[in-house]
Amino acid sequence: MTETLLETTAARTPAEVVASARAAFDSGLTKPRSWREAQLRALRTLLVDHEQEIAEALHADLGKSATEAWVTETGFLVREIDHTLRHLRAWTAPRRVPVPVSLALGRAKVVREPLGVVLVIAPWNYPVQLCLAPLLGALAAGNAVVVKPSEVAPATSRVLARLVPRYLDTSAVHVVEGGVPETTALLAERFDHIFYTGNGTVGRIVLEAAARHLTPVTLELGGKSPAYVSDDADLRVTAQRLVWGKFTNAGQTCVAPDYVLASRATIEALKPLLVEGIRAAFGEDPSRSPEYGRIVSARHFERLTSMVDHDRLVTGGRSDASTRYLEPTVVEVEDADDPEQLVMREEIFGPVLPLVEIEGLDAAVDFVNRREKPLALYVFTSSNRVRRRFVRDTSSGALAFNVPLAHLAVPGLPFGGVGASGTGAYHGEHSLELFSHSKPVLTLPTRPDATVFVRPPFTALKEQVVSRVAFPGRRRRPRRKVE
Ligand code: NAD
Repeated sequence: MTETLLETTAARTPAEVVASARAAFDSGLTKPRSWREAQLRALRTLLVDHEQEIAEALHADLGKSATEAWVTETGFLVREIDHTLRHLRAWTAPRRVPVPVSLALGRAKVVREPLGVVLVIAPWNYPVQLCLAPLLGALAAGNAVVVKPSEVAPATSRVLARLVPRYLDTSAVHVVEGGVPETTALLAERFDHIFYTGNGTVGRIVLEAAARHLTPVTLELGGKSPAYVSDDADLRVTAQRLVWGKFTNAGQTCVAPDYVLASRATIEALKPLLVEGIRAAFGEDPSRSPEYGRIVSARHFERLTSMVDHDRLVTGGRSDASTRYLEPTVVEVEDADDPEQLVMREEIFGPVLPLVEIEGLDAAVDFVNRREKPLALYVFTSSNRVRRRFVRDTSSGALAFNVPLAHLAVPGLPFGGVGASGTGAYHGEHSLELFSHSKPVLTLPTRPDATVFVRPPFTALKEQVVSRVAFPGRRRRPRRKVE
């Protein structure tokens, strides 16, 4: 790793990298809209020109097919860049804000200013998207950025470290490769914002490090995202969409449906449809499907295979350690609260879909609410009443009806968690907001001087102005006489 670190950061220590990024920011280089747009266009060119090379790295790390790589990573980013370029002028324009009567002569506006130097720490599961989507948001907002790709997806990390400096401004954008020691060293530096995507345990480490410098943090975390299938759902379409949502990237998606909640009757009806849906997507033998991914590492492979209860299999369960292949697997869960049930104890983050029996809407809402707030909550239903109930009575990073994953593709929707699933949200204009400080700017002419009414001494006339015009709503009370 040290060799790559030397190569990508020109033999500089984390302190030197951050100092270089800060010097670029302090010089004012990153602030003009023209610079930001040029960076976004350069990033777009990188993605389009090197689509194949990036796809090959993603295939090496995760067995991703080229089309999946385009849909969920490269093409996703190109769309996000195009959307940002289209709206950047409007998003960065100062916004006029009405002033109260008492300041009627003044002008108020909100100016979005960049924060400074941003650190992006990315995970391995969508190693291109989750590195570059925060990067492009931070650049669009006019920041200098240090990016740390995940060492768990080494081929992709290498490609990013090689390509990014060839396309983006090397004084303001830095890629630092490495694992825990390199990230720890980076976290000792002072940043103006830290954007972390990954698990909650490391999230706590990031938060502690940030606290030392009072650095604001965005935490994009995970957890168990439930999918409730109501008895009134269109079960055939539901099964196909669950298969898509769960087995894309071999289940290694932070917003994949983690488990299914449904009544006994609906579970029985879903089982053959899920089996059929898996076959339709990946064929009789998914190990031979070019569309089906692999588990990222031996450690995660071990973790996942030990979770599968072969006595309660609905389908799947076969695996091959040499290729880190785990078949799309569906299992039934007898008692979701039993701590022995490994699949219900922690986020699965792999191609295993547990079916949990739950009777009725109230029980489903209660089941969700008794656990940590999820990153995504999916409800399959054709009923308005069921939809309203979930909107009103549950809390989650996102709530989607009849479709998993797709909310990420709506650029106007904020993407992020709540509670244990994260804090802060990005995408589209929300990224601009996240990586900017919204600075209030007020200008008041010196003449005529309206502040005279709110400055002592408070004469009877001023009292009237204060109580009736400037801050109306005051009860009338007699003026206190000065003895
Ligand atoms: P990971 O192992 O790649 O770790 C993420 C980053 O943290 C890496 O860059 C790594 O170098 C760094 N890191 C690891 N240990 C560290 C330490 N001790 N100190 C400092 N930095 C350290 O990825 P992961 O955590 O296995 O990612 C999977 C998790 O991320 C899942 O829980 C998933 O749900 C979540 N996730 C969330 C989102 C989201 O957008 N909310 C997206 C993807 C993944």
